[in-house]
Amino acid sequence: MTRSPITASTTLAAVVGSPVRHSLSPVIHNRAFAETGLDWVYVALEVAPGTSRAAFEGARALGIAGLSITTPHKDDAWEVAHERSPAAERMGAVNCLHLVNGRFVGHNTDGDGFVDSIRHAGFDPSGCRIAVLGAGGAARSVIEALARAEASEVLVVNRSVDRAERAAVLGDGRARVASVAEVSSCELVVNATSIGLGSNELPLDPSVLRPTQWVADLVYHPLETALLGAARALGCRVIDGLGMLVFQAARQFTIWTGTAAPIEAMRGAAIEELERRRG
Ligand code: NDP
Repeated sequence: MTRSPITASTTLAAVVGSPVRHSLSPVIHNRAFAETGLDWVYVALEVAPGTSRAAFEGARALGIAGLSITTPHKDDAWEVAHERSPAAERMGAVNCLHLVNGRFVGHNTDGDGFVDSIRHAGFDPSGCRIAVLGAGGAARSVIEALARAEASEVLVVNRSVDRAERAAVLGDGRARVASVAEVSSCELVVNATSIGLGSNELPLDPSVLRPTQWVADLVYHPLETALLGAARALGCRVIDGLGMLVFQAARQFTIWTGTAAPIEAMRGAAIEELERRRG
């Protein structure tokens, strides 16, 4: 799939973060633009911590139509947004800015992207009891979105209990802090900690898992984490972290362009890039 030449009328989108050079977002979005024939191009912009306000003002002056926001700038993006979606408002964090008539509209597509990914895999969270391991930024977005998707109960299991308590508040009465012993009673177990990222560490002892459960990992490097491998060996159905990455990007793509996102092409681009990096 090749894109048309970049010309004076090409529309620019970008991801802003630090570090950002490892980001898969450029390959995912550029494949989506190519696949849909849109004359857009997407680049990665390294923006040092503490300098994002100036970067956002510059992006607005330059007319950059869409920005993806990653660590550590999601709080500042929330602050600069002139308007915010309800999910972004509740989260206090923005991962997507859309420039509309010179004003930034802030969105948070992480949590809904996760819910899209589990539905796509065949798991409907409505009425289900779900364990979320972790209480950082990713876990918070997942908890908030699972509550909106009408999970019956979201159990938040985290090393730091005070952080778990703050995250559970986002569950709008459907979430509470829990211990790892309660994970066995859940229909879906989600690893939203950073354990397993670039390692074969496990965020919990797999002996608490049951074969009827679904297990999702937000970590996608490696794609098959030690947790997913152990869960699969037990007979659980598993969902990898690339799904969330692709579906949150898909929502951003549609917000900016008004066009349905080519999900399979976007996931294919991410997998090709991961394979290329593995050499
Ligand atoms: P944060 O740093 O905000 O949170 C990290 C979480 O992991 C905290 O709950 C922390 O617990 C827990 N944790 C870390 N190390 C340990 C440990 N040794 N033992 C127990 N708990 C630990 O990270 P994020 O929330 O931003 O990201 C979490 C993961 O999700 C990352 O791997 C990231 O790559 C992935 N991610 C994937 C996305 C996707 O699209 N698939 C999107 C966003 C993130 P504590 O609170 O006690 O410190």
